Amino acid sequence: MSTATTQANMSLVSTKKLAVVYGEGEIPLQLAFSKRKTLEISVHPDKSVFVKAPEGTELEAIEAKVKKRARWIKHQIRYFEQFDIRTPSRKYVSGESHLYLGKKYRLKVGIGTDNIVTLKAGFFLVTSTDIQPNHVRSLLSDWYREKADLHLNKVFSECWAKFRKRDAEKPNLKIMQLKKRWGSLSKNRTLTINRDLIKAPKECIEYVIIHELCHLEHYHHGPEFYQLLERFLPDWEKRKYKLEIALI
Ligand SMILES: [Zn+2]
Repeated sequence: MSTATTQANMSLVSTKKLAVVYGEGEIPLQLAFSKRKTLEISVHPDKSVFVKAPEGTELEAIEAKVKKRARWIKHQIRYFEQFDIRTPSRKYVSGESHLYLGKKYRLKVGIGTDNIVTLKAGFFLVTSTDIQPNHVRSLLSDWYREKADLHLNKVFSECWAKFRKRDAEKPNLKIMQLKKRWGSLSKNRTLTINRDLIKAPKECIEYVIIHELCHLEHYHHGPEFYQLLERFLPDWEKRKYKLEIALI
């Protein structure tokens, strides 16, 4: 079950911060105990790591599990880093790759008289009189924002067209930078999606939107929720996996 794309059933009473030493570094994480049978590790889009453990689990046992999954955790963190336009590893110079709708484009920065951002033959071409990394970043960021508003609205309309025959009222769409989730649905029928989804493949954008639309009928992730999701997207698990892992 995705914690990134969901409204969450977390019922976290209190969380505790700790760090697990791994290799040369350490993994900071937040730990919460609850009445559950299994331990769950999740990495959120802001790269924070959460561990939910059954009440009474020994810290050593938790550390051992985290160490066992450390490679996967690092993998997830790297995956989310490429979505983050502010990530310090990005330098905004030629040769770097940036994502758009699930494809990687190589950045090519050049001096020009106008500010232009275009995609051409596998390249992100950015020209400007000012090609300082900060300026290139803001040009790219404006470009992504514009494309996100256009495409995410379009995909939302397509998804809604499939869903509208059901007895549900159309939610309002809100596109914004979210730290912890790909999407959420509030009780006042606002469907919020993460602007960074514009970097993911269309099938993954559809997955997030359909997932949230299914919450119009079933607020929690119970069996009926999954039945409905499965009816609309029989391959939802594949899409979810692709969103979380396959773009590395
Ligand atoms: Zn959900």
